[in-house]
Amino acid sequence: MKTLRIGVFGGTFDPPHVGHLILAAEAQDQLRLDRLLWVLTPDPPHKLDQTISPLTVRLQLLLAAIGENPSFELCRVDMDRPGPHYAVDTVKILQDQYPSAEIYYLIGGDSLHDLPAWYHPQRLIELIDGLGVMRRPGDQVDLRELEQKIPGLTAKICFIEAPLLEISARQIRQRVAEGRAYRYYVHPAVYRLIEELGIYRLPSSSMMRNANP
Ligand code: ATP
Repeated sequence: MKTLRIGVFGGTFDPPHVGHLILAAEAQDQLRLDRLLWVLTPDPPHKLDQTISPLTVRLQLLLAAIGENPSFELCRVDMDRPGPHYAVDTVKILQDQYPSAEIYYLIGGDSLHDLPAWYHPQRLIELIDGLGVMRRPGDQVDLRELEQKIPGLTAKICFIEAPLLEISARQIRQRVAEGRAYRYYVHPAVYRLIEELGIYRLPSSSMMRNANP
């Protein structure tokens, strides 16, 4: 019997953008994933010092982004449990839910670089069947160094072939706040929702922190 191959893609998605959609779609194709679970993280442990849009708003945006693709699914696993929401716990819960499935965890190259600082990264790598990584401009991935810190990591990595996309949610929030063009950086339904809700128009404190003087 064929084993179900599940992709797990976690993020803040504030907002979801075409970088996320391309990563998910390419991973699905290249890793032959049957289902792709989008895990919306309520309080990302690495973004506790940043202002993040309310979960209800990010949920609407994410549903708008993935709604028309039948193999993309919203996964409420982190939304329905108290934080902190560590990837290792998310994967463990999903493995209990899908005991015979292969689990492929998906991240961008910047997250791969930061992986040693995640909560129990070694355990996470041992639990999953593969780590799908889509490189990101300037992500400074050094596989030798990463392997030293997390033995067994490189054997689990499957690089996803895709053009480097210099697109981030922070950049889109900043563009909206500055009244600059951002329409084609997001799915049309996400664009409509951002306009309707009038979000990101005021610079958030995180943007102010990161803005050039
Ligand atoms: P922010 O700019 O607010 O930090 P973000 O654009 O990085 O947000 P997240 O929701 O934090 O988006 O990212 C979820 C996952 O998607 C992470 O693993 C991240 O590395 C990956 N990702 C985001 N944008 C890209 C991109 N342009 N190319 C490849 N991976 C990406």
